[in-house]
Amino acid sequence: MGYEIMEDNLTEKRAAAWAELKARVQACARCGLAATRTNVVFGQGSVNTPLMFVGEGPGEDEDKQGLAFVGRAGQLLTKILSAGGISRSEVFIANVVKCRPPNNRVPEAEEMMLCGDFLEAQLLLLRPKILVCLGNTPTKWILKTTAGITTLRGRWFEWRGIDVFPMYHPSYLLRDDSRRKGSPKDQTWQDIQSLKERLEQHRREEGAANGCGA
Ligand code: SF4
Repeated sequence: MGYEIMEDNLTEKRAAAWAELKARVQACARCGLAATRTNVVFGQGSVNTPLMFVGEGPGEDEDKQGLAFVGRAGQLLTKILSAGGISRSEVFIANVVKCRPPNNRVPEAEEMMLCGDFLEAQLLLLRPKILVCLGNTPTKWILKTTAGITTLRGRWFEWRGIDVFPMYHPSYLLRDDSRRKGSPKDQTWQDIQSLKERLEQHRREEGAANGCGA
């Protein structure tokens, strides 16, 4: 699949903390979603990445497979990334809640509060340069805002030294097929270009810091 967790890239201490976190999440029954899940979806991808994505919660396919963003929306996300020259295998993808809310309802505030600790721990251990929030739920959780995704998408924010970039959730794009100027798909195309530019900027800065700059 190309979504393997490349944990050998973590330093030893971080790798131990990551393994402990993963074990805690896999065994978690902190909130009511534990009772109805099939699998916990910890998230997957490269753990040595400058770019992380976060969605709302697992859907039916994700719950069955124990993997994030593997259903139709996930496949569209893979296409969107690839349009921006970004491979799925080079990013890490997770959700605000790690267990599927019944009938894909929006997670409740208490569920997000209880599970949000795990996302925060993932962010602090992976330390990505950029966090893309897909849709309303992760954007509101990270930025502690009541503003909606249509207002916030395509703009850069900051959370504990990480650049935060809200974009539409791919499931929203599946519901609106229009490609006209100003449509969600057109806006997402602009967003992926902006994301690509910022990612390249981080890579140039990292290269210069490591003495590899031109
Ligand atoms: S959603 Fe999060 S807090 Fe709730 S049971 Fe699953 S892992 Fe635990």
